[in-house]
Amino acid sequence: MSDQLDLWPEDAPGGRIAWSVSRHKRLGDCLRKYYLQHYGSRGGSKPDAPAEVRDVYMLKHLRSRHMWVGEVVHEMAELALSAWRRGDTVPVAALVERGTRRMRAQYADSVQRFYRDRPRYVRGLMEHEYDDTVSREEWRAQHDRMERCLHTFFDLEITATIRETPVWQWLALESFGSFDVDGTTVMVKPDFAWRADNDRIVIVDWKTGKPRPNDEWLQMAVYGLFARSAWGLRTEILDCRPVYLDTGEISMFQLSDDDLRTALDEIRVSVKEMKRLAALVVDGDLDPEAFPKTDDVSYCNHCNFRRVCVRP
Ligand code: SF4
Repeated sequence: MSDQLDLWPEDAPGGRIAWSVSRHKRLGDCLRKYYLQHYGSRGGSKPDAPAEVRDVYMLKHLRSRHMWVGEVVHEMAELALSAWRRGDTVPVAALVERGTRRMRAQYADSVQRFYRDRPRYVRGLMEHEYDDTVSREEWRAQHDRMERCLHTFFDLEITATIRETPVWQWLALESFGSFDVDGTTVMVKPDFAWRADNDRIVIVDWKTGKPRPNDEWLQMAVYGLFARSAWGLRTEILDCRPVYLDTGEISMFQLSDDDLRTALDEIRVSVKEMKRLAALVVDGDLDPEAFPKTDDVSYCNHCNFRRVCVRP
């Protein structure tokens, strides 16, 4: 799952918390960033919003070049799977060509800063907003990574298995879902899930970056909670597989009820903190000082809010 949570509605004052793994991660990484993403940008899509709020809203939608490649690869994988579901064929070369066109068009939009007027709909890259020095070779390397990931996607045995599986055994294809934890909505978007011939359920997450076992364990456990809640499945029949498309590695998580209990506890602790912070935000009287900046300054170099944050 790429960080596509901007597709979900903005928080409303006093509304339910919409918990997700990426929101939880942001909470742990930097509270100031969490504040800017979820509160400082609120209402920034409205034409009459104050300039600084519109600016934060625009910054929130920026992607790094690495995240951008991940989004394009996910989109192309979804296109291929949708075509296979219809019974169509998709040559990998056609998909790479489409991904290349998408990257070229989005790069051109970004370099001309078109995203500034329509940040939610036009892809903007942090490197352009911040005039970061990125060589042509590095941009080329990102395109090559997209191409490599798509070739791996086509070549993997797990993809061949999916293609041979009747579509009535498919359970989810990039579909948004949610379940409730004590009055909080937990949002998920599994990349793909199907019922295997041995009656086990396989949930796949396409990854374009490097393995991050701790983050992945929580994400897989949250998928497990979703599968139990939405599909009524027993934990012991779930196989969760992060698939690393840049290298072709596949991890395997076989979840236990203990895993799901631990994940639920983690969600509850996280939600409690999110609710505490939400209570600090009185509409019209937002206090960013209640949301301190991270001590890890190296993290700031990759932050989309670094201009408005202004350390220390
Ligand atoms: S620039 Fe650093 S301190 Fe500021 S919001 Fe981003 S990560 Fe947090």
